[in-house]
Amino acid sequence: MSNPSILILPGDGIGPEVMSEVKKIITWFGDKRDLTFDVSEDLVGGAAHDAHGVPLHDDTMAKAQEVDAVLLGAVGGPAYDDLDFSVKPERGLLRLRKEMDLFSNLRPAQCFDALADFSSLKKDIVAGLDIMIVRELTSGVYFGEPRGISEQNGERVGINTQRYTESEIRRVAISAFELAKRRNNRVCSMEKANVMESGILWRDVVTEVHKDYPEVELSHMYADNGAMQLVRAPKQFDVILTDNLFGDILSDCAAMLTGSLGMLPSASLGAPMENGRPKAMYEPVHGSAPDITGQGKANPIACILSFAMALRYSFDQGVEADRLEAAVEKVLADGVRTGDLLAGEGVTPVSTTEMGAAIIAALDASV
Ligand code: NAD
Repeated sequence: MSNPSILILPGDGIGPEVMSEVKKIITWFGDKRDLTFDVSEDLVGGAAHDAHGVPLHDDTMAKAQEVDAVLLGAVGGPAYDDLDFSVKPERGLLRLRKEMDLFSNLRPAQCFDALADFSSLKKDIVAGLDIMIVRELTSGVYFGEPRGISEQNGERVGINTQRYTESEIRRVAISAFELAKRRNNRVCSMEKANVMESGILWRDVVTEVHKDYPEVELSHMYADNGAMQLVRAPKQFDVILTDNLFGDILSDCAAMLTGSLGMLPSASLGAPMENGRPKAMYEPVHGSAPDITGQGKANPIACILSFAMALRYSFDQGVEADRLEAAVEKVLADGVRTGDLLAGEGVTPVSTTEMGAAIIAALDASV
């Protein structure tokens, strides 16, 4: 059987810096765990625009459709701010998400004990937190028609449409229930069924899908209450399932429970391919951080944890994903910190490569 394949798209700014540490970790798994990947690399975002005049070349798009997983660094930066909207770096990312039909966006909010002080909430509310937000990514109010700004009765009117079909709700609900089975068997679905018809349909369809998952406990919550509960008692949740708009907001809110942007991974999954693996792209939540690019200051952990998600969700290597996450936890517990994680006095920050090396040393110690 051939090795599983990965397409690496480092992108712009700190993207190549953090991805370089991930590449070393991929090599480590090949050398030490007999887990070898066929890795190819290509351009996306501003880097692709510099080379080809477009933020994603058609050949790169075709490769992304073929591989088992795409790992993306970050796109964008001030050099590209004045480009036409149609060729802005972000268009490359959106094209990947759209053409791969990555409808299920997984955003974990996990609080490492060593970083519990970083949260804006009290330590006992977030210590040990481990929740997963599943956000529908390809439909809803960001895509619904009609949309636009028009003139009516002598004034401008802005219109967006929240629209969901049953099948769009069903597939993301399946994704959330499947995920809950690998975690703690609980899904809380959030919408606004009290004031939105699309919310009523959302609740109906999720309840129907739940019939196939009797082992998973399902609850429903209005999204505004969900936001309140996320900051009041976030540990009550396991998997939160929600639509595109609410998911956008709730996942950013949940992210801040855990501290730094440099720590947050994500996965975007689509339909299963012929080999049973879902179409998938893994990327840190952060952007290209132009303010620290080229200075060796970037925290590579968000990108490394994104690869851990790939191990778990694309390659069925849950044990190795646990190993990588435990290595990150060990390094943080040992007090190793990049600049973004510095709290208090007397801690000297390590560089991007030093953080990567510390994680590899912890991996070495784990075998
Ligand atoms: P950003 O996430 O790039 O940076 C926000 C702040 O967090 C900065 O101070 C940055 O230094 C810090 N930061 C981010 N990641 C870090 C890391 N790994 N280690 C240490 N510090 C880190 O967001 P921004 O400044 O709003 O955007 C910069 C560029 O990135 C823009 O062009 C934006 O469009 C783009 N962007 C891209 C993505 C993506 O590729 N998915 C996401 C968000 C923003």
